[in-house]
Amino acid sequence: MIGCECEVCRSSDPRDNRLRTGLMIENHDHRLVVDVSADFRQQALREKIARLDALLITHCHADHVFGLDDVRPINFRHGPIPVYANESAWRGLRRIFSYIFDREHIGGGLPQLIPQVIVGEFEICGLRVTPVPVVHGKGEVTGFRFSDGHGSLAFITDCNLIPEESLEKLRGLDLLIIDALRYKPHPTHLHVEQSLAYIAELTPRHALLTHIGHDIKHAEATRRMPENVELAYDGLQVEI
Ligand SMILES: [Zn+2]
Ligand SMILES: [Zn+2]
Ligand SMILES: [Zn+2]
Repeated sequence: MIGCECEVCRSSDPRDNRLRTGLMIENHDHRLVVDVSADFRQQALREKIARLDALLITHCHADHVFGLDDVRPINFRHGPIPVYANESAWRGLRRIFSYIFDREHIGGGLPQLIPQVIVGEFEICGLRVTPVPVVHGKGEVTGFRFSDGHGSLAFITDCNLIPEESLEKLRGLDLLIIDALRYKPHPTHLHVEQSLAYIAELTPRHALLTHIGHDIKHAEATRRMPENVELAYDGLQVEI
């Protein structure tokens, strides 16, 4: 955190050095990314992302969408990319990035994005995608469940409550990635105790905590986790 001198911000453990949350899924030759924060550019350079088949957006908060313009170099080489978001996220995206979606714009190299409004399940990159609505303060965030014949995972970030109907979509997972901002309760995010309670209820084979803030020290928190739960960290790769 800018200007912070706490133990985690000064930690020499690279796993305590966190960029904003994002997820990339590779399935055979296909690749999709969920959320593009302002850190997306750094992440894409680090992971050498030259090509993308789709972008999925959980919700229109700065820490999840401010890197949208940075997909341009991928467009220049490989053409337009479909972007999936729900209706309310699209309202925000069209306002913030009016220069991208405003057809009056002339000149400049704009990102080439194909808007797709999420209304139900869809298929992309050989995966079945099930939207999983969750509550994030006064807003609604789209969590995603991805599955094919071989496995399943879900990405549930930025929420303080998972409604009953959504819980039903999160059972039998190989991997659950779930919000866990800090130890203390927070009005719009899950805190560690709540995240672990959801994991215990949903019994995924493996779970990862994400969207972790600077009051959680990786090594120390890891020692207290149940056997099937780990803290995610930047650059972590998991095979399913
Ligand atoms: Zn700090
Ligand atoms: Zn948010
Ligand atoms: Zn967030």
